[in-house]
Amino acid sequence: MGSSFRPFLVNDLFGDPALYVGLPWARRALLFDLGDLAPLPAGRLLKITDVFVSHTHVDHFVGFDFLLRVLLGRPRALRLYGPPGFIEHVDGKLRGYSWNLLDGYSLSIEVHEVHPDRVRRARFTCPQSFRREEVPDVAAPDGLLVSEPEFRVRCAHLDHRIPCLAFALEEPVRLNVDQARLDELGLPVGPWLMDVKRAIRRGEPDETEISIAWSDGAGRHVRSLPLGTLRREVVRTSAGQKLVYVTDVIHSADNRERILALAAGADIFYCEAGYPERDADRARARYHLTTVQAGRLAAEAGARHFAVFHLSPKYRDCAGDLLAEAMAAFTNASGSRTGGETPGGRTEENTV
Ligand SMILES: [Zn+2]
Ligand SMILES: [Zn+2]
Repeated sequence: MGSSFRPFLVNDLFGDPALYVGLPWARRALLFDLGDLAPLPAGRLLKITDVFVSHTHVDHFVGFDFLLRVLLGRPRALRLYGPPGFIEHVDGKLRGYSWNLLDGYSLSIEVHEVHPDRVRRARFTCPQSFRREEVPDVAAPDGLLVSEPEFRVRCAHLDHRIPCLAFALEEPVRLNVDQARLDELGLPVGPWLMDVKRAIRRGEPDETEISIAWSDGAGRHVRSLPLGTLRREVVRTSAGQKLVYVTDVIHSADNRERILALAAGADIFYCEAGYPERDADRARARYHLTTVQAGRLAAEAGARHFAVFHLSPKYRDCAGDLLAEAMAAFTNASGSRTGGETPGGRTEENTV
């Protein structure tokens, strides 16, 4: 029973960038980029607590209004992370609307503007009609933006002719349930296993009692076992999952070095590839990657899977060729690696 991230690209290969990552054990979700979010139902949007925005070109930020509208009535805070200038962009979006009928609404938006040496912050809340409130700066050593028991998010500063952030989402440890041992102990599979994993990730003490309730032909049963016993008997640990999200960058020596440092050993490397290799000059002029550059970066980072996205819509009629080109670059540069399985994109055709 895996417990890791549940990622999928919201749109197809040519659609706006937006990577949704469910955290099922925490009943919440993360989002990377705010492109068109219309395909996401409200139930999924309401789970989003943290959004990481690479940059504010319209195809990466147009979904802000859509998300805001759904979350307005939600008391839980929304945290946004973006590149230098981000607070001004969020403020500008919020000032585009009238906010005089917000009685009873309490949404708070906490904005983190990530610079190489510090993180500027601001808060916008419903009760204050989304007027900007300054919050003291914080540090982000080694680009570390979020560090929770269940996951960490790190960023790299890249060049897209404007500052652009890439992100790595990492699980410190992966927790799996030993099904055979569970059977031997006569314990059922059920939601209580999520409680066990949550308690372990939060570092709760071994004495914490975990309640296990289930029904079968003999009636309803309830047992209680200490977390320490369950941790020892039925939970197995392994290396945590790592997802990397890179988009809208020129293929320069600086960008390449920073991307490889961020993405080393990724389980899934999500990477834009705006252009085919034959249009490398166009890619360079527009500060984007080609299919081959993206595939090679994923391979050089040692990624297990490569998911390409954000192809320029002008190539819609030759999508298969571009996917094949990206895939070939990845597999050839990976040598003996066997990547290329569908790694969590929404549909097979938007991943290689
Ligand atoms: Zn873009
Ligand atoms: Zn862009």
